Amino acid sequence: MKEHFQILIIGGGNAGLSVAAQLLRKKSSLSIGIIEPSERHYYQPAWTLVGAGIYDIHKTVRQEKNYIPKNSTWIIDAVTEFIPSENKVLCKSGKEISYEYLVVSPGIQLDWDKIKGLKETLGKNNVSSNYLYEFAPKTWEFIQNFKGGTAIFTNPSTPIKCGGAPHKIMYLACDYWKTKGILDKCDVHYVSGGAGIFGVPEYAETLVEVLKKFKIITHFNSNVTAINGDTKTVEYETKATDETIKQSLSTLDASCYSIATHDASAETKRVSMQFDLCHAVPPQSAPDFIKKSPLADTNSPYGYVEINKYTLQHSRFPNVFALGDCTNAPCSKTGAAIRKQAPVVVANLLSVLEHQKPAATYDGYSACPIPTQYGKLMLAEFDYDNKPKMTFPFDQAKPRWTMWKLKTKILPWLYWNKILKGTA
Ligand SMILES: Cc1cc2nc3c(=O)[nH]c(=O)nc-3n(C[C@H](O)[C@H](O)[C@H](O)COP(=O)(O)OP(=O)(O)OC[C@H]3O[C@@H](n4cnc5c(N)ncnc54)[C@H](O)[C@@H]3O)c2cc1C
Repeated sequence: MKEHFQILIIGGGNAGLSVAAQLLRKKSSLSIGIIEPSERHYYQPAWTLVGAGIYDIHKTVRQEKNYIPKNSTWIIDAVTEFIPSENKVLCKSGKEISYEYLVVSPGIQLDWDKIKGLKETLGKNNVSSNYLYEFAPKTWEFIQNFKGGTAIFTNPSTPIKCGGAPHKIMYLACDYWKTKGILDKCDVHYVSGGAGIFGVPEYAETLVEVLKKFKIITHFNSNVTAINGDTKTVEYETKATDETIKQSLSTLDASCYSIATHDASAETKRVSMQFDLCHAVPPQSAPDFIKKSPLADTNSPYGYVEINKYTLQHSRFPNVFALGDCTNAPCSKTGAAIRKQAPVVVANLLSVLEHQKPAATYDGYSACPIPTQYGKLMLAEFDYDNKPKMTFPFDQAKPRWTMWKLKTKILPWLYWNKILKGTA
């Protein structure tokens, strides 16, 4: 069976629905099809709060059908193949759908298998991850039941959605253990593929103080390769010197280490650490059906959709646009970024449709709301150049109660009532 749409949107998540709703508000006569396999729509940013015990997991999921814009067509199917030279896609059901313009937004893929043993132990053996709906509540269960010992929080070396999520939950866990009076019995380690705690120096300064306050030991440039639930071990690869490794594994003098002695040309060493609790974040890449398609950026090891980072138009197929977590735009992958990307895609797609040049531009804006303890949050906003782009007329590098309220109350409301409906 064949179908045709003027505009075909792949993925009805945060990005796809925002674009569909905004397009129809500008031009209600457009014929828009949205291919989305899931009957459930998730508000993923609240999963950190679920893992910290202050948000009901059931409030993070709603029926997709209630958010598909009126006057658009929902195709409940999954794309398996892009054929941009013929302006068509193939679906899992065997259906072939053609288009005049294509918007690609199926999110990012969680590569659980890239960490040996992780999938098998998730939700068991005190190993959890806020990156899945099923396991965010487990994180809270394990944090609550923790009586002290070694807690490891991991962050992969690939780009991920919400780069802050791996450490946000760590600060909240430490604050909870502090309130419970057991933080002194906890050795908390952050094993991260990143080179530092945060890419924007102004916000990183604040976080270094938080790391010190909770005596968190950091292992940067460290790539987690295996998590064994039975032996309770995390294995990672690093090029740090022996002395730095020894220092970072010492539980006697727990404090915040920055691994200045990391040497990229050094031999890779394998380090194994025992844990009593582990919050893990999987490596991530473009969904496989994008990686193997002509839309993929062949220079990207993650197979993202290749776009112009300003106009969000595909570099080789001018009737194709992409936004959200699936693209090679070198921004931080968040819903906040999509809020700024969606109007650019909408404006440029409408221009191209009227045979004009795409003139709207995206500056790489992204935001990461980082809770530093219960009741306080730093709203880090920045652009492609990692320069702060603060919205509020005060220093946002300082954690505040008002920003905590923004994250826990206002943003979820804004998402369901405004962003998905194309009015914010
Ligand atoms: C734990 C966690 C915390 C986060 N915290 C924040 C935060 O504080 N602030 C923030 O701004 N962002 C945060 N994010 C990131 C944010 O949720 C994502 O950046 C955002 O959801 C990306 O939107 P998207 O539309 O690109 O992808 P998604 O919203 O993931 O949607 C992709 C859609 O595509 C569909 N799809 C998949 N495969 C196919 C296919 N083959 N064919 C058709 N459709 C397909 C999926 O079913 C899905 O509905 C967080 C994410 C996580 C996991």
